[in-house]
Amino acid sequence: MDNRTIRHLLNNELEESVITIVGLGSGGARVCDHLTSNGISRWNLIDKDVLDETNLVKHPRLRGELGLPKVDIQRKWILDRNPESRVTTYLEDVIQLGSTFEKIVSQSDLVLCCTDNIESRNFITQICVKQQIPYLVAGVFTAGFGGEVYLYDPGRTGCYTCLRQYLLAENHLLPDEEIIQELVERNVDGKAIYGRQQDTLSGLSLDISMIANIQARMALSYLLHRKDERHFLGLFHLDYNWRVVYTRKMETLPNIVPFHYYGATILQQQNCFCYSMGADHEMAKKRDTH
Ligand SMILES: [Zn+2]
Repeated sequence: MDNRTIRHLLNNELEESVITIVGLGSGGARVCDHLTSNGISRWNLIDKDVLDETNLVKHPRLRGELGLPKVDIQRKWILDRNPESRVTTYLEDVIQLGSTFEKIVSQSDLVLCCTDNIESRNFITQICVKQQIPYLVAGVFTAGFGGEVYLYDPGRTGCYTCLRQYLLAENHLLPDEEIIQELVERNVDGKAIYGRQQDTLSGLSLDISMIANIQARMALSYLLHRKDERHFLGLFHLDYNWRVVYTRKMETLPNIVPFHYYGATILQQQNCFCYSMGADHEMAKKRDTH
């Protein structure tokens, strides 16, 4: 099989870009699909899970693939669309990969964090900051009230831990924490929310797709324009490194407008571990006053 049928559609500027994606659930699989369809052909896929029956309501893959590792299913899909792709798979929890993950990151142009737990997010933050490799975190909020995408651009922005510190200093919680707080105030105790979050209060497939699309678009814009100094100055391609969108009205956040995109540029916070690593504080200061 050759690739002539789709080659003219693919962005050949991205041919040499190596992307590592952690988590191939309902969000990660979609992000990977979109970027494959736009010319990313060199992939490292990391996920420890097999496709389970409970995934079928949200995950884009097929019933006939139940029981197979998500990394293998995704590899097959990528090669179906672009037979010239080079895909390496790791059927393992990212934290268990340890030093192997450090090596994978050091050879990547961008890391996509599509997991649903804070431990893996923190681990990816640590490794990417240490190696000064950019990463894009995406998360769907509890009950699919919206979601966020966060880009760490070494030397230009803070890491995801900086975001939390910045919000705490401003007396705010992370948006997902605010949503959980509202649900608690509506007389549902936290445990029940977390229990139900796994089932009925999980985001719907359309909520997950919306955030996956934003993550894929930010990844593409970043890869195409990362060498352009202007791309982060509010004038070109990526005006903010943190994007938030809500899908429904929240009682405790009356000013939130559904489907309005909120954004901010989060700089390195002085008390964050990333502050001393590869930072260009002069550049950050200039951008802050722009
Ligand atoms: Zn930081």
